[in-house]
Formats: sequence, structure tokens, C-alpha cells
Amino acid sequence: PLSYGIVLDAGSSRTTVYVYEWPAEKENDTGVVSQTFKCNVKGPGISSYESNLGALAKPLDDCLNKVKERIPVHLHKNTSVYLGATAGMRLLRLQNETAANEVLASIQNYFRAQPFDFRGAQIITGPEEGLYGWITANYIMDLFKTWVHPYRKETMGALDLGGASTQISFIPEDSQENLNSTLQVKLYGYSYNVYTHSFQCYGRDEAEKRLLASLLQKSNMSSNVDNPCYPHNYTTTFTMKHLSGSLCTQSLRPANYYPSQLVHFHGTGDPGLCQEMVSSLFNFSACRDRKDCPFHGIHQPKIKGNFVAFSGFYYTINALNLSGHFSLADFNSSMWSFCSQSWAQVSGLVGVFGLALVFLLSYCFSANFIYYLLIHGYNFDAETWPRIHFQKEVGNSSIAWSLGYMLSLTNMIPAEGKLIQLPLKP
Ligand code: AMP
Repeated sequence: PLSYGIVLDAGSSRTTVYVYEWPAEKENDTGVVSQTFKCNVKGPGISSYESNLGALAKPLDDCLNKVKERIPVHLHKNTSVYLGATAGMRLLRLQNETAANEVLASIQNYFRAQPFDFRGAQIITGPEEGLYGWITANYIMDLFKTWVHPYRKETMGALDLGGASTQISFIPEDSQENLNSTLQVKLYGYSYNVYTHSFQCYGRDEAEKRLLASLLQKSNMSSNVDNPCYPHNYTTTFTMKHLSGSLCTQSLRPANYYPSQLVHFHGTGDPGLCQEMVSSLFNFSACRDRKDCPFHGIHQPKIKGNFVAFSGFYYTINALNLSGHFSLADFNSSMWSFCSQSWAQVSGLVGVFGLALVFLLSYCFSANFIYYLLIHGYNFDAETWPRIHFQKEVGNSSIAWSLGYMLSLTNMIPAEGKLIQLPLKP
């Protein structure tokens, strides 16, 4: 007999419903939980419904109706549902706590009428998001399984790029170095000290908003602004609210701020200038003269071992027609040629590799952002770059914090668990 669990990943840009299954009697074994269904909820992330709570239910219903068909009816009431909200809701809570609580209360209400065992809607913290992503990656790659001290297999670091925040998590050389940013977890009989940090406003969408808002500021608040990261000949229009309404762009908000005022952005497709503009989004000066602090004033031990980069990292690499491992030089040349294309060429890519039009215009920005984050932010270099594996799933299971979240909340990873022993090397 199988058991099921459901997690809603309520991200800043969208909500995704994941259904997991596992053999009921093997619950505590490593690597037995897999993803059996995934549904992207239509519409934006839940934080965008703050003034339209009534509209939350319909798109959720569409996914949950499909979920109900996937799980045998007699198991519905024993199937736990967890909703975890990430940086979109963390930002909303900072801006307007009442609005954030109302969104969560609407979701509680919605699930009261569902047949499943709803275990609550929570805003998870940045470090939790980082840690759960690390647990998922190592769980689905089965890296917790074959460990025998002292020949234990290395774990993988996790790099997650969301819409509003980005997370890095790995086991550093010296895990005692900075206990403030290190979380201790005990899994299957071993202790791990995982360094993790979540950079708020360094998610893909919020970072791009910061770019647009600073281009606007540099243009002296003109209503026509050049954007070197958009393809040549592409033009788009945003409201001032979109550009400056977020907490991440508040400091760039003009003195005379009219939320409905329109600003037109014209693409100039200039890779060199795009790179320069993207570098200005990183607060390197906060770390002046500190070797252990790459940017934003945040301590980070030296990166160590192999990494898996998923979510926004993966989408962008896929759009550059790269996958898995490749050299930094290959990445740079793909980025340069992508960024040099005109809008006519870029829009011709719709449908190729499943690329959606809405994302196409931003891949040049995203690629530059990823470059700066990984190279100047986290301090990867040409030598360590090939240790990053860009990947979105293993088998059918997505690499995302949601699985690690469920495994942890259901105690499916025992601290003192069974460990499958390898024969010790002579
Ligand atoms: P998510 O995986 O939903 O947390 O999304 C992470 C980031 O990737 C967000 O900035 C999304 O806007 C962006 N994103 C989601 N799907 C795609 C895609 N197919 N291509 C490019 N970016 C995407």
C-alpha cells in the first residue's frame, strides 16, 4: 500500500502543487519518497492576492481537482497537505503584516472545505528554505544512503534561484567557523552542519525589478528608458507601481511617485552594458576588505564540493541551450550570443525547448545575473564552475525545497535511522 503527501510551494511568482508517494511500510527508509504529480496553479503567487482574496480559490481548485483524481478516495482524509510560502510572502509580511495574515487565513479557510488533512499554511524562513532545498537535493540523489564513516560520500551543495530570493546551502570545510549561519541537522544517524543563506531581493524577478528601477532613476525619471538587457527592438511598458511598489525597490522610488504612471522600456541588446548594469545590483561595498564576505555584508565560508543549481538557474541555462556541466567559457559565449540577438530572433525561439514568450525577453538579464551571483557573489571561478550541475529534477522528482519540507515535517527522516552499510574499504 502507498501513502501520499501534498505540498503547496507558494512562491512569489506562482504556486506549485506537488504530490508525493511512498510505500507505507518503508516510510523511514532513504530515497523511497518520489513525486507522482505536479500542478502549476494558474495566475500569480499568493502574495499578489492581498487585495483580491476572493480570487484565490478558483485556480487552486483546478489543481486540487486533479490531485483528488490521483490519490485513491479512501486515502484523502489521511493525506497531509502542507503549504509553505516563501520570499513573496516574507516581503508582504514586512510591508503589511495584516495583509499577509489575511492571505494565509483565506488559504486556511479554503482547505477546511477540502477532504485532505490540512496541516497549515506557514511562511517559512530563508534559512529553512535553503536547508529544505539541500535536504531534497541530497535525498533524491540518494546521497544519504551509502555512507559509512570514514569513507562517507560527499553531500551536494544546493543553489536555488526563486523569484524574490536566492538560497545557497552547503557543508563547508570548517563547519565550526560561523555557527550563526550554520544549521545543524541529524539525518539517518549522522550530524551535518549546513551553511545556508537566503538573499532577499536577489531572486530573479525582484532583481530584474531593481534593474529596471535603477535604469529609470539613471534616466532622470523619463517615461522612455533604454534597457541594454532587453533584445534590440523590443519595447514594453510597466506601471510605476510594478517598478517601485516592492520593498526591494523602495529606495529607488521617485519623490513624486504615481503608482499608475507608465514607463516604456526599449531594448538596445547591448551585452557589455547589460553586464555593467547587472553588476551594480550587487552590494559589494558592504564587504570591503573582508575575505570571508563576498557581498551584501554576509559571511560565507569558501565554497566546497559539488553543487546542484535548480529552479531559476536551470530555466536560464536551458534557454541558453546548455545543460548539466559545462565550462565557464561556454556559458559566457552562449550568454553573449543570446544577448546580442534582436527581438525578431529571440521571439523566433518561442516553442523551442518549451520557452515561453514572457520569459524570453528576460533571459539575457537572468544569464548576467546568474553570472554575477555565482562568480562575484559566491566566488565560484573557472576551475570550480564545472562543479555546478544545472538540473531541475531527478527521475520525475523536482529539485525544490518542498520535498525536504514534507520529509522534515512528517519526521520521515529519522535522526537515528537505518543506514545501509557499504562494505568498508580495506
Ligand atoms: P520558481 O521555480 O517558480 O520559484 O521560479 C523561479 C524563478 O524562475 C522566477 O523568477 C520565475 O519567474 C522564473 N521562471 C519560472 N519559470 C520559468 C521559465 N520557464 N523560464 C524562465 N524563468 C522561469
